[in-house]
Formats: sequence, C-alpha cells, structure tokens
Amino acid sequence: MNERELIELALAEGFANAAVMDTAELVFVPDFRPLCEENLCGKYGVNYCCPPDCGTVEEMRRRVLRWRRALVAQTMWDIENPMDETQTKPAKGAHNRLTRRLIDRAGLPGLMIGAGGCDLCGPCALAEGRPCRFPDRSFSCMSAYCIFVRDMAEKCGMEYDCGPGVTAFFSMYCFAEA
Ligand code: SF4
Repeated sequence: MNERELIELALAEGFANAAVMDTAELVFVPDFRPLCEENLCGKYGVNYCCPPDCGTVEEMRRRVLRWRRALVAQTMWDIENPMDETQTKPAKGAHNRLTRRLIDRAGLPGLMIGAGGCDLCGPCALAEGRPCRFPDRSFSCMSAYCIFVRDMAEKCGMEYDCGPGVTAFFSMYCFAEA
C-alpha cells in the first residue's frame, strides 16, 4: 500500500482528514510533560502507556524517530468543552478504535499514537502489577510523546481549532523504518 492509498483508506474509514508527513518535522516539547502530571485524564501513574511508566520524553521521541513517515488522521466532534472528560473520553475512545481498525486494514508495521492513552483494558494491568496484556496493540497518546499537535496539524494542512462547539482529535501511525 502506498501513501496515497493509505490516505484514501483513512478517509474511507471515516476520518475527516488524513495526511502523511516526515516524522523529522514533528516538534517534541518536553515542557508538555508536567501537563500529564496534572492528571486531568486520570491515567498518570496507572497506565503502562502514560507517564511516568511509558518512558522519558527523549525515549518517546526516539521511539517515534525509528520510523520515517507518519500518517496523521483527524476526526471532528460536536463537543462544547474540550476540557470536559465526560464528553471527550467516549469520542477519544471511538477515535482510537477507528485508528486501530485503519492500521489493521493497512497491514503496515509501525507505531500507533492515539488521541488519548491506551484504553484497551479497564483497569490497566499496571494496577495489578501484571505485565501489559496487549503489548502489540497498546498505544500512548500525543501528550505522552509531548508532540506539538497544533504545529503538526498546521504542517498537515488541518485545522486545530475548528470553531465553537467542535473539537478535533488526532492520531498518528508512524511507518517506514528509518
Ligand atoms: S493494553 Fe491493557 S495492560 Fe496494556 S497498557 Fe493498555 S490498558 Fe494497560
């Protein structure tokens, strides 16, 4: 599957927008890490894919740069307040399931980055001190990687601020080994 076909598949699967960029163009901002520590999402320290268990910002950056190219996929939702987890959580879950289905259909080796932290189990096996149940399917979110999402969206020609009452979510699939 070439990149054009990958983008077309993403749009056919239901994403509002999709584009491919070089991972070298991504901006990583270590100063974002304290936002995870504020734990608004409730996953800090209780999920293998979230800080601090996912690794340092530098380790996360290196994980991304193992791959040369990244598919960026966007969905849009009727959500008034993007800070309201009761509204955003179901939408992020749906966005992440859509991303996983796209990846499974594309069949390319690579790295998924979600719109929210891994939600495959409730609770994460970390809470029981057991190993991750699905290490091949678990994923960290953009925030855990400290990716500057607004910059990424602009480089892909996508709106980050979609106007009142509309919230956009982004995920990424890094592929093509460096
Ligand atoms: S797959 Fe399950 S155990 Fe592994 S990180 Fe995700 S929620 Fe935790």
